[in-house]
Amino acid sequence: MKRFAAYVFLLALLLTGCGGPVDPDTAQESIQVLAMDTAMLITTYGERSPAAAYACEDVIRDLEAKLSRTLENSEVFRLNAAGTLEDLEAELRTILSQAGYYCQETGGAFDVTVAPVVSAWGFAGGDEYRVPSQEELDRLLELVDGSAVKVNGQTVALGPGQSIDLGAIAKGCAADRILEVLQEYEVPRANISLGGNVLAWGDRPDGTPWRVGIQDPARVGEPNAFAGVLELTDAFAVTSGGYQRYFEQGGKTYHHIIDPATGHPADSGLRSVTVTAPAARKDDWNGTMCDAFSTALFVMGEEKALEFWRERGAGGTFDLVLVTEDGRVVVTEGLADRFTLDETSGYALEAASQ
Ligand code: AMP
Ligand code: MG
Repeated sequence: MKRFAAYVFLLALLLTGCGGPVDPDTAQESIQVLAMDTAMLITTYGERSPAAAYACEDVIRDLEAKLSRTLENSEVFRLNAAGTLEDLEAELRTILSQAGYYCQETGGAFDVTVAPVVSAWGFAGGDEYRVPSQEELDRLLELVDGSAVKVNGQTVALGPGQSIDLGAIAKGCAADRILEVLQEYEVPRANISLGGNVLAWGDRPDGTPWRVGIQDPARVGEPNAFAGVLELTDAFAVTSGGYQRYFEQGGKTYHHIIDPATGHPADSGLRSVTVTAPAARKDDWNGTMCDAFSTALFVMGEEKALEFWRERGAGGTFDLVLVTEDGRVVVTEGLADRFTLDETSGYALEAASQ
């Protein structure tokens, strides 16, 4: 991941009146952060909104400095270079344990050891996009095996020749840590948008839920073209889609979500997967879960994704919005009355129940 050093200060509006009391509904700080290859927008409310917004930025920069596989001093860079690391920080240890767990849970559809394959296609940053030969992919696929990563106390060891890419959960981890900051600073409401990863905290100042648009993958050039809108309060919503990063060659489109079973961009009939889950406590790691699942379920395709949800998503543990290549939007039970289809999108709305 490239690191963008600069951030743009968008709006700093703190309405304190003339020495009067601060109105937490209108006291607001909004900053844009360019990190993790994405433009992020952090909007916090409440008396401590400026300090909270900058603390959120610190969390993002701190995680990027640890988890990037292109920044030379990051823990992940050092781990990939040496194959082992003996002074593993507690945070990366937890993230790697989470990654191992989700690899197992998703039957390997989510697997951070897919890194060499991601690099071969040029999606690791820095390299040119290219279509690797099948021979090269077959060779690299032998290195893809999440179960070979061993975490033992402060030591982590990769299998021979392996490397890891945490790009599919880094923003989810950041969202989890931001949730902690929001609670620590007693932020009553916030809208945190980490490029496809949203944390809708509290409600809007007028008491209505946050409205989270789901990009219409068929109209990527139009930033406000939505397949539909979710109304969310205290929730994470994470979207994975082939449209988020791709290149074209020989009339074909190749995107960045790799099916670890084939080494090719997943071709599962889905255009995007959004996973939502409650945002209550950082220790739930629900932001990370949504991020891991959105990537994995995109790889799995509609049928397996719904089966996965039926087995594990019961009672609102998590819910899904699937946008299919054949023009449907499938919404699971828990979001039925929180999702509104954009009528101009042309999609047909379908409901999935347990
Ligand atoms: P996301 O946007 O969260 O779905 O993450 C996609 C990113 O994760 C890609 O740009 C790759 O860096 C990495 N990645 C691609 N395929 C996989 C996979 N099957 N499992 C884990 N990480 C992946
Ligand atoms: Mg993800």
